[in-house]
Amino acid sequence: MNKVQCPICDAAMPGNWQEYPDYPFCSARCRKIDLGRWLDGKYRVPDPTPPDSSSDGPGDAD
Ligand SMILES: [Zn+2]
Repeated sequence: MNKVQCPICDAAMPGNWQEYPDYPFCSARCRKIDLGRWLDGKYRVPDPTPPDSSSDGPGDAD
């Protein structure tokens, strides 16, 4: 039998998972945390060119 655990806080989730509106998270809070992580990873793009790169010209080919 699989033991269901919240992937965020590792809290055990006894009972039927259907009882958890925020499944697979134990609560809306953990769901928010997961969402935040996801958005953070999605929108955090590394800047290859430093802003102080003496604007010599458009090096952006795209
Ligand atoms: Zn949790």
